[in-house]
Amino acid sequence: MPAVKPPCKVLVSGANGYIAIWVVRALLEKGYSVRGTVRSEEKAAHLRQLFSSYGDKHEVVIVEDITKEGAFDEAVKGVDAIEHTASPFHMNADDPDELINPAVNGTVGILKSALKHGQSVKRIVVTSSGAAIQRDSPTPITVSELDWNEQCLEIVREKGRGAPAMMKYRASKTLAEKAAWEFWNQNKANVSWDLSVLNPPFVFGPAIHAVTTASSLNTSAMLFYNHVAHPNSSGATNEFLASTGTCWTDVRDLAGAHVLSLEKEAAGGERIIISAGNWKWQDFIDAANAISPPPKLATGGLPKGNPGAGTGHPSTVHLLYYETAKAARILGLKYRTITETTKDTLADYEAKGW
Ligand code: NAP
Repeated sequence: MPAVKPPCKVLVSGANGYIAIWVVRALLEKGYSVRGTVRSEEKAAHLRQLFSSYGDKHEVVIVEDITKEGAFDEAVKGVDAIEHTASPFHMNADDPDELINPAVNGTVGILKSALKHGQSVKRIVVTSSGAAIQRDSPTPITVSELDWNEQCLEIVREKGRGAPAMMKYRASKTLAEKAAWEFWNQNKANVSWDLSVLNPPFVFGPAIHAVTTASSLNTSAMLFYNHVAHPNSSGATNEFLASTGTCWTDVRDLAGAHVLSLEKEAAGGERIIISAGNWKWQDFIDAANAISPPPKLATGGLPKGNPGAGTGHPSTVHLLYYETAKAARILGLKYRTITETTKDTLADYEAKGW
């Protein structure tokens, strides 16, 4: 399968989202042309303004409802590659299908459109999640690309609307990724493209999408703001801050991974974990307090928690580890550190007057 390289044209779905807009930027900076999809004209405005200097190398098209049959038929025409990131990530679903339906049908829909109208497409990258791999465990576990999150599927099957919000989201990502691989396996003989899937855990870092208030940040970035930029961590106890956390990656490193996954031939047919490592909220809080001069935030100051009580403290236990050798081998990815991401994220809040 030929690798994709600039000046190829890449379709990015959900281009106005927190992660996708960094993917658009990374692609444009590397010399690609980008066609982004958003749900309405209103959501196109910020993208058009932010990337206006790229002229006709950047375009935005409207795909109102990604679950509709043929929704991406026009958008896939003439592109060399696709980055499918559009999928809901929120904790407000009552019926799990509110998440599962757009996640699964959006993913299968874009693949179907590429099957029918994507004769020029060489590679499709789907933004899945660590949610499709990990499971909750009372004792530490290491998971790899060989693992599937069957646990969330069982819980959602059993409890339906009563399942925890995070389990509904994890189920949507697991089912969407399974559907993508199933579609690929059924149709690989009839398409010019191959499939690559990225599995990042929590994504943190600065925001360049259209957000005017911190309360309108996307789910992961809002959690970071609430715990790391509020003097009392939005009411979280010190014990919670020292004991709560999983794995993470910086949004800019993830955007870079999306570009590399198009370019590296060996990424075809692979799911790839993109994780910088483990965290506890206390780690980010300590990094925030080490910034000199301290960021001036409208929240009135930084939380302190219990300094040093996070990763590295003898009593700290991480329950989930990701095997990350595949990303290193195929993509050669380097990750930002907790210190770098925290510094840049707080500088972003300060610049935004938050
Ligand atoms: P985000 O800022 O909320 O962006 C989500 C994007 O998907 C937006 O463009 C959104 O469009 C679109 N979308 C959501 N629901 C939709 C629906 N029902 N129909 C059509 N479009 C819909 O979230 P994000 O954090 O960037 O997430 C992007 C992708 O990364 C998702 O696939 C998510 O599962 C995955 N991911 C995120 C994280 C993380 O920590 N952030 C970690 C792992 C994987 P609107 O703006 O119009 O709603």
